[in-house]
Amino acid sequence: MIVRPDADGIRRAAEILAADSVVAFPTETVYGLGAHAFSEKAVGAIYRLKNRPSWNPLIVHVASVEAARGLAETWPARADELAARFWPGPLTLVVRRARHLPGIGAANDTVAIRVPAHDVALRLLEASGLPLAAPSANRSESISPTTAEHVLRSLPDVPLVLDGGACSWGIESTVLDVTGEVPRLLRPGALGLRAIRDVTGAIALPDEVADGAARPSPGMSRRHYAPRARVLLRKDVRDVDRAGLAEPIGVLTHEGEGTEVLSADPREYAADLYAALHRLDDAGVATILVQEPPQTEEWLAVRDRLSRAAAAPE
Ligand code: AMP
Ligand code: MG
Repeated sequence: MIVRPDADGIRRAAEILAADSVVAFPTETVYGLGAHAFSEKAVGAIYRLKNRPSWNPLIVHVASVEAARGLAETWPARADELAARFWPGPLTLVVRRARHLPGIGAANDTVAIRVPAHDVALRLLEASGLPLAAPSANRSESISPTTAEHVLRSLPDVPLVLDGGACSWGIESTVLDVTGEVPRLLRPGALGLRAIRDVTGAIALPDEVADGAARPSPGMSRRHYAPRARVLLRKDVRDVDRAGLAEPIGVLTHEGEGTEVLSADPREYAADLYAALHRLDDAGVATILVQEPPQTEEWLAVRDRLSRAAAAPE
């Protein structure tokens, strides 16, 4: 059920969370499927509903830096600097997990944490008083939801969805491991690397991300963020031999003509990408030809999502 995020809606959502069940709520990145992060039952419900592989860990959402510190064994000075600059916001920090807390997913001694920059998310965190694990509120591998309606389409069994309108960033948070000497990028996302480097200096990048090229092994090119339609990434979508492609064909570009023409600005493009993929799926296209975005760092997160959406099912 989709519910308005007024005082009554927030109270109902907090009651469900207190009972170790799940609710979907808006964040500035995408809609999250939230549950008490350190309740085995509640976290189990997230994995079950999403059909998420058990090895894929979850991000814990909290309302403040103090709450984040409370989950950490050690809280590096660098985490403080990053939190001061970017929280609330779309940056997730991986730190050593406090020993008294159980691990989530296969993450052995670390925990991923962020403070979301969305009024509804923050009010829900306050009202529930719980740290909330909240992966994107969709079936595993499929397109992330950026509206309350997207959530229900992918997860009709979620008991309650708080409706906060469309997400402003529309793409997942950037995940940064700050347990080591040099911060390490684990997932490109909404927050750009240039802004992070302003605070931290050099960041270690995974090879696959550094050059934006095809993943070296099939294991790394895990399918994710994928619509029902087959996604094909092409330098020039006008110049594609369409013989042999399943029809109808949709074209997603950021210049020229297409079924969906998104902005040539990477932030605006990202904000609209999942919604555009949802629209193309709704229109019943069988193939989506996507114009490859530029190979520049500003497009890193978008390229990451598109290349995973284009990966063949395993
Ligand atoms: P999401 O599916 O958007 O909730 O994002 C979860 C992602 O955060 C995972 O796929 C990992 O990339 C990352 N993550 C979460 N927890 C950890 C952790 N403890 N260590 C490393 N990466 C993590
Ligand atoms: Mg997800």
